[in-house]
Amino acid sequence: MPLLISRSASVFLQSRPSMAHFSTTSSSIGQKARLRGVVFDMDGTLTVPVIDFPAMYKAVLGEEEYVSVRSKNPSGIDILHYIENWSPEKQRKAFEIITDFERQGLDRLQIMPGAAELCGYLDSKKIRRGLITRNIKAAVDLFHKRFGIVFSPALSREFHPYKPDPAPLLHICSNWDVHPYEVIMIGDSLKDDVACGKRAGAFTCLLDETGRYDSPEFDTVDLKPDFKVSSLVEVHSLLEANFDLTP
Ligand SMILES: [Mg+2]
Repeated sequence: MPLLISRSASVFLQSRPSMAHFSTTSSSIGQKARLRGVVFDMDGTLTVPVIDFPAMYKAVLGEEEYVSVRSKNPSGIDILHYIENWSPEKQRKAFEIITDFERQGLDRLQIMPGAAELCGYLDSKKIRRGLITRNIKAAVDLFHKRFGIVFSPALSREFHPYKPDPAPLLHICSNWDVHPYEVIMIGDSLKDDVACGKRAGAFTCLLDETGRYDSPEFDTVDLKPDFKVSSLVEVHSLLEANFDLTP
Protein backbone atom coordinates (compact mmCIF):
# COMPACT_ATOMS: atom_id res chain seq x y z
CA MET A 1 0.00 0.00 0.00
CA PRO A 2 1.44 3.32 -0.98
CA LEU A 3 -0.62 5.25 1.55
CA LEU A 4 -0.80 5.27 5.30
CA ILE A 5 -4.16 5.09 6.99
CA SER A 6 -4.92 8.27 8.82
CA ARG A 7 -7.01 8.21 11.94
CA SER A 8 -9.51 10.70 10.63
CA ALA A 9 -10.09 9.22 7.22
CA SER A 10 -10.96 5.79 6.06
CA VAL A 11 -8.86 4.63 3.17
CA PHE A 12 -10.14 2.32 0.50
CA LEU A 13 -7.80 -0.48 -0.34
CA GLN A 14 -6.70 -0.09 -3.88
CA SER A 15 -6.59 -3.40 -5.66
CA ARG A 16 -4.63 -1.86 -8.53
CA PRO A 17 -2.77 1.27 -7.44
CA SER A 18 -1.81 3.29 -10.47
CA MET A 19 1.72 3.04 -11.74
CA ALA A 20 2.04 6.76 -11.30
CA HIS A 21 1.62 6.37 -7.55
CA PHE A 22 4.09 3.52 -7.30
CA SER A 23 6.73 5.20 -9.37
CA THR A 24 6.70 8.39 -7.37
CA THR A 25 5.89 7.65 -3.77
CA SER A 26 8.83 5.36 -3.04
CA SER A 27 6.46 3.46 -0.78
CA SER A 28 9.04 0.76 -0.13
CA ILE A 29 11.17 3.17 1.86
CA GLY A 30 8.18 4.82 3.51
CA GLN A 31 8.42 8.21 1.85
CA LYS A 32 5.23 10.16 1.47
CA ALA A 33 3.99 11.38 -1.89
CA ARG A 34 4.67 15.01 -2.59
CA LEU A 35 1.54 17.14 -2.82
CA ARG A 36 1.65 20.31 -4.89
CA GLY A 37 -1.96 20.98 -5.74
CA VAL A 38 -5.53 20.29 -4.66
CA VAL A 39 -8.39 20.38 -7.14
CA PHE A 40 -11.91 20.70 -5.80
CA ASP A 41 -15.34 20.02 -7.17
CA MET A 42 -17.74 22.89 -6.43
CA ASP A 43 -21.38 21.80 -5.90
CA GLY A 44 -21.69 19.57 -2.85
CA THR A 45 -17.96 19.89 -2.08
CA LEU A 46 -17.04 23.57 -1.68
CA THR A 47 -20.70 24.48 -1.37
CA VAL A 48 -23.43 22.84 0.67
CA PRO A 49 -25.52 20.67 -1.64
CA VAL A 50 -28.57 22.67 -2.60
CA ILE A 51 -29.34 21.23 -6.03
CA ASP A 52 -31.82 18.36 -5.82
CA PHE A 53 -30.20 16.22 -8.54
CA PRO A 54 -32.76 13.36 -8.50
CA ALA A 55 -35.56 15.93 -8.93
CA MET A 56 -33.58 17.56 -11.76
CA TYR A 57 -33.03 14.23 -13.52
CA LYS A 58 -36.72 13.32 -13.13
CA ALA A 59 -37.74 16.69 -14.61
CA VAL A 60 -35.39 16.21 -17.59
CA LEU A 61 -36.03 12.51 -18.26
CA GLY A 62 -39.56 11.99 -17.01
CA GLU A 63 -40.39 9.65 -14.14
CA GLU A 64 -40.37 6.42 -16.16
CA GLU A 65 -37.12 6.99 -18.03
CA TYR A 66 -35.49 8.23 -14.82
CA VAL A 67 -36.28 4.96 -13.03
CA SER A 68 -34.95 2.95 -15.97
CA VAL A 69 -31.74 4.99 -16.37
CA ARG A 70 -31.17 5.00 -12.59
CA SER A 71 -31.33 1.19 -12.42
CA LYS A 72 -28.73 0.88 -15.20
CA ASN A 73 -26.35 3.40 -13.58
CA PRO A 74 -25.92 2.51 -9.91
CA SER A 75 -23.05 4.96 -9.40
CA GLY A 76 -25.17 7.87 -10.68
CA ILE A 77 -26.63 9.42 -13.80
CA ASP A 78 -24.47 11.50 -16.16
CA ILE A 79 -27.24 13.79 -17.34
CA LEU A 80 -25.07 15.98 -19.60
CA HIS A 81 -23.74 12.93 -21.39
CA TYR A 82 -27.20 11.40 -21.54
CA ILE A 83 -28.79 14.32 -23.37
CA GLU A 84 -25.82 14.85 -25.71
CA ASN A 85 -27.43 12.95 -28.59
CA TRP A 86 -30.93 14.30 -28.17
CA SER A 87 -32.46 16.48 -30.90
CA PRO A 88 -31.55 20.20 -30.60
CA GLU A 89 -35.07 21.11 -29.53
CA LYS A 90 -35.26 18.39 -26.87
CA GLN A 91 -31.77 19.32 -25.70
CA ARG A 92 -32.66 23.00 -25.45
CA LYS A 93 -35.61 22.14 -23.18
CA ALA A 94 -33.41 19.87 -21.06
CA PHE A 95 -30.83 22.63 -20.59
CA GLU A 96 -33.59 25.05 -19.62
CA ILE A 97 -34.64 22.66 -16.84
CA ILE A 98 -31.04 22.07 -15.71
CA THR A 99 -30.25 25.80 -15.71
CA ASP A 100 -33.41 26.50 -13.75
CA PHE A 101 -32.40 24.02 -11.02
CA GLU A 102 -28.88 25.49 -10.96
CA ARG A 103 -30.25 29.03 -10.70
CA GLN A 104 -32.42 28.07 -7.73
CA GLY A 105 -29.31 26.53 -6.18
CA LEU A 106 -27.36 29.78 -6.56
CA ASP A 107 -29.95 31.69 -4.56
CA ARG A 108 -29.32 29.37 -1.61
CA LEU A 109 -25.53 29.09 -2.05
CA GLN A 110 -23.59 28.40 1.17
CA ILE A 111 -19.95 27.57 1.66
CA MET A 112 -19.21 24.07 2.96
CA PRO A 113 -18.08 23.90 6.62
CA GLY A 114 -14.30 23.60 6.72
CA ALA A 115 -13.76 24.87 3.16
CA ALA A 116 -12.45 28.32 4.04
CA GLU A 117 -10.16 26.91 6.77
CA LEU A 118 -8.81 24.24 4.43
CA CYS A 119 -8.08 26.83 1.75
CA GLY A 120 -6.27 28.99 4.31
CA TYR A 121 -4.22 25.97 5.35
CA LEU A 122 -3.31 25.16 1.72
CA ASP A 123 -2.28 28.78 1.19
CA SER A 124 -0.04 28.61 4.27
CA LYS A 125 1.69 25.59 2.70
CA LYS A 126 1.82 27.25 -0.74
CA ILE A 127 -0.20 24.39 -2.21
CA ARG A 128 -2.17 25.43 -5.29
CA ARG A 129 -5.96 25.30 -5.41
CA GLY A 130 -7.98 24.58 -8.54
CA LEU A 131 -11.63 23.89 -9.27
CA ILE A 132 -13.50 21.73 -11.76
CA THR A 133 -17.26 21.84 -12.00
CA ARG A 134 -19.92 20.68 -14.44
CA ASN A 135 -21.88 23.81 -13.46
CA ILE A 136 -21.72 26.99 -15.58
CA LYS A 137 -19.07 29.73 -15.38
CA ALA A 138 -21.56 32.23 -13.94
CA ALA A 139 -21.97 29.93 -10.92
CA VAL A 140 -18.19 29.80 -10.39
CA ASP A 141 -17.97 33.60 -10.72
CA LEU A 142 -20.70 34.00 -8.12
CA PHE A 143 -18.97 31.53 -5.80
CA HIS A 144 -15.67 33.46 -6.09
CA LYS A 145 -17.41 36.77 -5.51
CA ARG A 146 -19.63 35.69 -2.65
CA PHE A 147 -17.01 33.89 -0.58
CA GLY A 148 -13.87 35.78 -1.61
CA ILE A 149 -11.84 32.59 -2.11
CA VAL A 150 -10.46 32.27 -5.61
CA PHE A 151 -9.47 29.03 -7.32
CA SER A 152 -7.21 29.08 -10.34
CA PRO A 153 -7.69 27.61 -12.80
CA ALA A 154 -11.43 27.20 -12.25
CA LEU A 155 -12.92 25.18 -15.10
CA SER A 156 -16.67 25.07 -15.65
CA ARG A 157 -19.02 23.34 -18.09
CA GLU A 158 -17.76 25.59 -20.89
CA PHE A 159 -14.48 23.62 -20.80
CA HIS A 160 -14.86 20.48 -22.93
CA PRO A 161 -14.74 17.61 -22.37
CA TYR A 162 -15.97 17.90 -18.80
CA LYS A 163 -15.66 15.49 -15.85
CA PRO A 164 -15.48 12.48 -15.64
CA ASP A 165 -13.10 12.96 -18.57
CA PRO A 166 -9.59 13.56 -17.17
CA ALA A 167 -9.02 16.48 -19.60
CA PRO A 168 -9.88 19.34 -17.20
CA LEU A 169 -7.64 17.94 -14.47
CA LEU A 170 -4.77 17.35 -16.92
CA HIS A 171 -5.26 20.90 -18.17
CA ILE A 172 -4.90 22.26 -14.62
CA CYS A 173 -1.78 20.15 -13.96
CA SER A 174 -0.21 21.40 -17.17
CA ASN A 175 -1.11 24.97 -16.25
CA TRP A 176 0.54 24.51 -12.84
CA ASP A 177 3.46 22.60 -14.37
CA VAL A 178 3.00 19.71 -11.91
CA HIS A 179 2.45 15.99 -12.45
CA PRO A 180 -1.06 14.56 -11.87
CA TYR A 181 0.40 12.28 -9.18
CA GLU A 182 1.35 15.41 -7.21
CA VAL A 183 -2.30 16.45 -7.10
CA ILE A 184 -5.38 15.28 -5.21
CA MET A 185 -8.90 15.67 -6.55
CA ILE A 186 -11.56 16.16 -3.86
CA GLY A 187 -15.24 15.82 -4.65
CA ASP A 188 -18.57 14.39 -3.58
CA SER A 189 -19.22 12.40 -6.75
CA LEU A 190 -17.72 8.98 -7.34
CA LYS A 191 -18.70 8.88 -11.01
CA ASP A 192 -17.47 12.41 -11.84
CA ASP A 193 -14.79 13.54 -9.39
CA VAL A 194 -13.17 10.25 -8.41
CA ALA A 195 -13.38 8.98 -12.01
CA CYS A 196 -11.81 12.17 -13.38
CA GLY A 197 -9.03 12.09 -10.77
CA LYS A 198 -8.19 8.44 -11.26
CA ARG A 199 -8.21 8.65 -15.05
CA ALA A 200 -5.80 11.57 -14.85
CA GLY A 201 -3.49 9.63 -12.49
CA ALA A 202 -4.11 11.89 -9.49
CA PHE A 203 -4.94 10.95 -5.91
CA THR A 204 -8.64 11.08 -5.13
CA CYS A 205 -10.67 11.88 -2.02
CA LEU A 206 -14.40 11.29 -1.89
CA LEU A 207 -16.45 13.57 0.34
CA ASP A 208 -19.36 11.49 1.58
CA GLU A 209 -21.20 13.52 4.19
CA THR A 210 -24.15 11.19 4.59
CA GLY A 211 -22.46 7.82 4.14
CA ARG A 212 -24.44 7.18 0.97
CA TYR A 213 -21.48 5.43 -0.65
CA ASP A 214 -21.47 2.87 2.18
CA SER A 215 -24.70 1.48 0.75
CA PRO A 216 -24.42 -2.07 -0.69
CA GLU A 217 -25.33 -0.84 -4.20
CA PHE A 218 -21.80 0.59 -4.45
CA ASP A 219 -20.11 -2.69 -3.48
CA THR A 220 -20.07 -3.77 -7.10
CA VAL A 221 -18.85 -0.43 -8.44
CA ASP A 222 -15.24 -0.85 -9.48
CA LEU A 223 -14.28 2.75 -8.89
CA LYS A 224 -12.66 3.33 -5.47
CA PRO A 225 -11.21 6.58 -4.14
CA ASP A 226 -7.84 6.63 -2.36
CA PHE A 227 -9.45 8.39 0.61
CA LYS A 228 -12.92 9.01 1.91
CA VAL A 229 -13.99 11.70 4.38
CA SER A 230 -17.34 12.72 5.79
CA SER A 231 -16.37 16.39 6.14
CA LEU A 232 -13.84 18.81 4.66
CA VAL A 233 -12.73 19.41 8.25
CA GLU A 234 -11.00 15.98 8.09
CA VAL A 235 -8.95 16.81 5.01
CA HIS A 236 -6.30 18.89 6.78
CA SER A 237 -5.12 15.99 8.97
CA LEU A 238 -5.51 13.53 6.09
CA LEU A 239 -3.07 15.57 4.01
CA GLU A 240 -0.61 15.94 6.89
CA ALA A 241 -0.65 12.21 7.63
CA ASN A 242 -0.31 11.01 4.04
CA PHE A 243 1.60 13.58 2.03
CA ASP A 244 4.84 15.47 1.96
CA LEU A 245 3.63 19.08 2.06
CA THR A 246 6.96 20.86 1.99
CA PRO A 247 6.90 23.54 -0.71
MG1 LIG B 1 -20.40 17.75 -6.66
